[in-house]
Amino acid sequence: MKHPFLLALLLLLTKVGLSQSVILPAPGVYKAMVGEINLGNELSFDSTLLVKPLRNYMQTQLKEMYGINCVFGGKNALVQFQKLNNAPTDFYSINIGDNVKIRFTSEASCFYAFNSLFQLINGEKEHYSIQRAFVQDAPKFQWRGLHLDVSRHFFTVEQVKKYIDLMAFYKFNTFHWHLTDDQGWRIEIKKYPKLTEIGAWRDSTVENHYTTSPRTYSKNKYGGFYTQEQIKDVVKYAQDRYVTIVPEIEMPGHSRAALAAYPQFSCTIEEQGVPGLWGVFDDIFCSKEESIHFLQDILDEVLVLFPSQYIHVGGDEAPKARWTKCKKCQAVMRENGIPDEHHLQSYFIQQMDKYLTKKGRKLIGWDEILEGGLSDNAAVMSWRGFEGGIDAAKQQHFVVMSPGSHCYFDHYQSTNPAEPIAIGGYTPIEKVYDFNPIPEKLPASYHAYILGGQANLWTEYIPTMEKLEYMAYPRAIALSQALWCQEKPKFEEFKQAFQAFHVGYLKQRNVNFSRALFYPSSKLVPTKTGMKLYVKDEDQTQDFQLNYKIGDNTSFISKTIGDLDSMDFDRTVGSTVEKITVVLTSPLLKDPAKQVIYRHPALGLPITFITKPSPQYSSNGSLTLVDGVYGKLPWKGYEWLGFDTSTIEFIVDLTQKSTIEGASIHFLDDTNSWIYAPENCEIFVSKNGKKWSKPTGLRLDKSAVKFQLNQKMNGRFVKFQIKNRTKIPVGSNGEGNTPWTFIDEINIYFK
Ligand SMILES: [Zn+2]
Repeated sequence: MKHPFLLALLLLLTKVGLSQSVILPAPGVYKAMVGEINLGNELSFDSTLLVKPLRNYMQTQLKEMYGINCVFGGKNALVQFQKLNNAPTDFYSINIGDNVKIRFTSEASCFYAFNSLFQLINGEKEHYSIQRAFVQDAPKFQWRGLHLDVSRHFFTVEQVKKYIDLMAFYKFNTFHWHLTDDQGWRIEIKKYPKLTEIGAWRDSTVENHYTTSPRTYSKNKYGGFYTQEQIKDVVKYAQDRYVTIVPEIEMPGHSRAALAAYPQFSCTIEEQGVPGLWGVFDDIFCSKEESIHFLQDILDEVLVLFPSQYIHVGGDEAPKARWTKCKKCQAVMRENGIPDEHHLQSYFIQQMDKYLTKKGRKLIGWDEILEGGLSDNAAVMSWRGFEGGIDAAKQQHFVVMSPGSHCYFDHYQSTNPAEPIAIGGYTPIEKVYDFNPIPEKLPASYHAYILGGQANLWTEYIPTMEKLEYMAYPRAIALSQALWCQEKPKFEEFKQAFQAFHVGYLKQRNVNFSRALFYPSSKLVPTKTGMKLYVKDEDQTQDFQLNYKIGDNTSFISKTIGDLDSMDFDRTVGSTVEKITVVLTSPLLKDPAKQVIYRHPALGLPITFITKPSPQYSSNGSLTLVDGVYGKLPWKGYEWLGFDTSTIEFIVDLTQKSTIEGASIHFLDDTNSWIYAPENCEIFVSKNGKKWSKPTGLRLDKSAVKFQLNQKMNGRFVKFQIKNRTKIPVGSNGEGNTPWTFIDEINIYFK
């Protein structure tokens, strides 16, 4: 067996002076000492304290990765174990001297210790060794989760096991199995066989991004489900790796697959198929007693299969359109004195909450379940940012932080235009690494309510295991750092450790991980005369080339890039716009990274925000609006600035007194994603930034607004004032919420 990465490991150890290990997530303490233990081709363990699943795991891992024989003996074995009683939860230490001494507090921490030791094995077949060292470690958070949606796309038992095996290696301990949704019911329920006979199968699946117009569908029957026997097998497999499976049965929304099988539990009792389109649907479970009992029957079978303390009931994105018109729902409201449909949702969830509590379990749901009050027992998974989690913690509910900004691995992970299709959003690995489940503004007295964090993998655009691994790794390892480490090492150190051991490990395990971490990176920064494109290849992984052309008809000009290079884009004058196509090629990139930049007169101009963009969609700050880059569809988070208020104001400084001829601003209109083009947009011109006058001669279209001034105006500042609707209309996705306003580019024509 060849291990090309081991050479890199040696280089790394020299480079960092042995102060840092390759173990990820990084241990609290790692101290390297002089010398090493030679293993040859065998590693012996004192098995007195080792349970059978642990022994099996050790044996398989060592054999598969290194070809090392695992020998179980007694006091003479190389690796000795000692159980500690008075130490923090899941604490372990490893002392590598003449022999290896592992101290642990729990079976799980013994498993963690082994996986750390495993990463310290060095060398080649027949000549393995371990550097003498001392390791001491304990996790920071008790909920370290990864989620998998098997409804939008189905993953087989073998694939789910591979996913669990890998997450366990990186010391995750919670697998959130999203088993039901609109597009497929995936768990056998004996009392209601039609759930899987009908609900597990759909006749079509939307192709491309669902915002693509016109929509097309593949007409293949698609689906699958897990039998109860298979579920038991997966639960056992996870237990053997100290991973708890938290099953999710979605209610009252995202229930079209269940209602396709049993329409009598909807409000309209109308028969509808399992949808092949993504999104949020109006048809949800009716709140009548029969529907509540139906779901409680299902939970009965779920509880037998899953021993987890928490049971996830969803609770997100449930439109109230049907409930408003349903006589039975309205009767439930009257009989129980429920003021509106939002409180009816809370009543619905409380029925499940009481039921689970009675059975000795705890309910967890998405942060919408907080609206209208929860029982003391219930926990909240905060997905719409940190706010829901903060509110829940302040109400003394336990919280798992899973904000879209840091934890949605169905988002894009690099700005390489050749990234495979994703749902939208931009969550590069650096951002995941920065994740802290405890928000700064949460008072210390509530910190104990934050159980931990979790990344979610929604699979609308993840149809295969290869794509799943590509989206999950290595971002999941960055997340494991955020959830495990008491103090995270610097990102650069993480990157070095990843490169030294984990690239090789993931290859060996046949994991199709993303190489985005090593891509040559580019960044746009404003300058006095426009902006600059920096291209950086700090890893010097491969030679790469920058090619560019001006306009459509010229040919490409080529230049080979060193470690760092740049290209200037100066502002044009008047109404001149010039298209420049920049193409980056590298052997690392499967396809060249192509970027179209328009030189225009507002390029790189300073902008003052009166209304701040949302932190979730503000990747390159104000430059996003004047970087010459227009957002493409399907939209990617980093090309747009997103605002979650209904009035937006900002001021552009032309930096000197100018003659203004016109302006334009470009919006995104994607109502399925809660993003609305605004209802009104105005501009104002000022000489001093204080006294404003409103020009005449404006033309407003839908997603692009152009201002052609009837009379040219003199001034230095231009203010944009944008008004969107205050609430998403009833019957639309996200009804009742403030719509998002997304802007990709503004332009001002001036001399
Ligand atoms: Zn109803």
